Amino acid sequence: MAKLQVQDLSIQGKRVLVRVDFNVPQNKDGSISDDTRIRESLPTIQYIIDQGGIPILMSHSGRPKGKKDPRYSLALCAKALSNLLRIPVIFAPDCIGNETEKLAKSASEGQIILLENLRFYAAEEDPKSDPSFAQKLASLGDLYVNDAFGSAHRAHSSTVQIAAFFPGRAASGLLMQKEIAFLNTSLSSPKRPFYAIIGGAKISTKIGVLQSLLSKVDALFVGGGMAYTLFKAQGISIGDSIFEAEQLKVAQDFLLAARKKNIPLFLPTDLVIASAFTADAPNKVIEIKEGIPERWQGMDIGPKTIEIWNKALQKGATIFWNGPVGVFEFPAFAKGTDALARTLSTLKAITIAGGGDSVAAINKLGLKNKFSHLSTGGGASLEYIELGHLPGIDALSNRQLV
Ligand code: AMP
Repeated sequence: MAKLQVQDLSIQGKRVLVRVDFNVPQNKDGSISDDTRIRESLPTIQYIIDQGGIPILMSHSGRPKGKKDPRYSLALCAKALSNLLRIPVIFAPDCIGNETEKLAKSASEGQIILLENLRFYAAEEDPKSDPSFAQKLASLGDLYVNDAFGSAHRAHSSTVQIAAFFPGRAASGLLMQKEIAFLNTSLSSPKRPFYAIIGGAKISTKIGVLQSLLSKVDALFVGGGMAYTLFKAQGISIGDSIFEAEQLKVAQDFLLAARKKNIPLFLPTDLVIASAFTADAPNKVIEIKEGIPERWQGMDIGPKTIEIWNKALQKGATIFWNGPVGVFEFPAFAKGTDALARTLSTLKAITIAGGGDSVAAINKLGLKNKFSHLSTGGGASLEYIELGHLPGIDALSNRQLV
C-alpha cells in the first residue's frame, strides 16, 4: 500500500514533527566523527522550511538506557545542523515536558527546534511501559514525518506508536523515500550476478538476512566476527575468537542450505589473528585450514582472502555490503575492510553499502562518491531485504486516505 509522503502534506504554518536519525558516530572526546546522517536529513528539513512549516526534530542517540546522561546529548547535533543549514537551531533540553511544549507552541515560521535525546525515556524503546510518552511527543506537532530510515526497523514510540496520533497526517520524509526506492529498484530485481558481503560482530543479529539472501544472491561473502561461528560449525578450531555457542546449530543449517542451493559461499581462507583484543596486540597471518591456536583470536581477513574476494567481486553487477570484515576500529586490523571498500569503489557494478561502520570506513578513505548508494541504515536495510517491509513505514498513513 502506498504511503503518504511529505510532499502530500499541506505544510504552510504547521509544526511538523520530524523523526530524524541523528545517531551519529562519535570520537572518543564526544565530537561527531561522521555527520552523514545529519547531512542526509537536510533535504526534508529544507523542504519543510521552504513550504513555510516549522520543523520540530526528534532523534535518539546511543544507548542511554532510559536515563538522562549528558554523554548522549544531542546538543552537538543541534550545532552541527545549525552550521549546515546556516540558520540557528533551537535546542530543547528535553523531548517532552512543559518547557518543551512551550517552545513548540511559541515557535514561529523560520524557526527550527531539535529535541533532546528520545532515549532519555525508557518508553521510547519500550512503548508499552508508558503509552503516554508517544502522546506527549505527538502533542508537539500538527503533522508527523518519519525520515529516520536508520530506525525504521524499530517499533519504538517515536517511529510507530506516534503515527496513530496523526491519522491521515503521518508521512515519509525524502530520505526515507530515497532509501526505500533504492532498495526496491536495485535489489528486488537486481542486475546479475548479484553478490552480498556481510560482516560484523555477531551471527545472531544477521542470520535471518543471511538465510534470506541465499534465495536472492548469486554468491555470498561472509567475514567479520560472525565467520568464527561458521568455522566452528565446520569443526575448525577458532581459539579465543568471538563465538556464539547457541548459534552453532543455526550456523550448521545455514552452511547446509548454502550447499543445497548451490550458492557459492566465500568465507575467509586466511586470517590476521592476534594474541589479545587490543590495537597493538602481537599479530600474524594464518591459513584457516590450520585452525586458530589457543589464546589467539581472529581479527581480520588475511591478504589471500583479500585477493580472492577482489577477483571474485569483479564479476558482480550488483553488490550489497553490510558490516566490517574485521575489527576495523584498530588500524592494524582494518586492512580487510579498507581493501574491500577500495575494491568496491573501483567496480562498474551497482554498489550499495549500508550500516554506520561500513559507511564510516568508506568515508574515511574518501570513497563515498564511488558508490552507487550509501544507506544510512544498516539494520533497516538488512531487515527490509529480509522481510520486505519495516514497522516505521507500515505505521504511516496510507495515501488513499487523503
Ligand atoms: P555489526 O554492528 O554487527 O555490523 O558489527 C560491527 C562490529 O563488528 C565492529 O565494531 C567490529 O569491530 C566488529 N568485528 C568485526 N570483525 C570482528 C572480529 N573478527 N572479532 C570481533 N569483532 C569484530
